[in-house]
Amino acid sequence: MRIVLVGPPGAGKGTQATRLAEKLSIPHISTGDLFRANISRQTELGKLAKSYMDAGNLVPDEVTIAMAKDRMEQPDAENGFLLDGFPRNVSQAEALGELLETEAIKLDAVLDLEVPEEEVVKRIAGRRICRNDSSHVFHVTYSPAKKEGVCDVCGGELYQRDDDSEETVRKRLEVYHTQTEPIIDYYKAQGLVVTISSLGPVEEITQRALEALKREDGGK
Ligand SMILES: [Zn+2]
Repeated sequence: MRIVLVGPPGAGKGTQATRLAEKLSIPHISTGDLFRANISRQTELGKLAKSYMDAGNLVPDEVTIAMAKDRMEQPDAENGFLLDGFPRNVSQAEALGELLETEAIKLDAVLDLEVPEEEVVKRIAGRRICRNDSSHVFHVTYSPAKKEGVCDVCGGELYQRDDDSEETVRKRLEVYHTQTEPIIDYYKAQGLVVTISSLGPVEEITQRALEALKREDGGK
């Protein structure tokens, strides 16, 4: 199967991408991994991407698309792949469409992980981390410390990371709404979107996704 995974920050996209790729025996292609692999192997595209990143700029779409093309042409991707983090806007989606067309292949589904906005804010903004050890993680609602503001493990002070502040989370959601959400409409017009709820235990969400993808596949 050839799948694109989309969903807002806090939807557990990375976790589900890894699990689904394994269950479906297809490679998980994430833009983060593509950048890291090309930069560490010092490919031409990697050097180009690094020059933008070092200058504090976004890597242009053409570079991302060329890396994705390379990766999708590897033998392990012959029978399918799961794209994560790409495409992230409509122009990338259009470029991906042209690319697949030249290879005479088609996407099977766009899996949309849905989680209510207030739940995303609650999940991320409720996190509290220990100043002594960042692996001591608590959540004000889901796993509160016994004594407010104090780590159960070592007695250290608990704090909220800047990245986890409600303001930052809302900004990231805003970027998602304006840039990435339009690709859902773009793919809806092609009848490819499968939406599932991303609430509940990790294992249940994976099962829900696999069943939804199976229905989609069987309906063709
Ligand atoms: Zn601690």
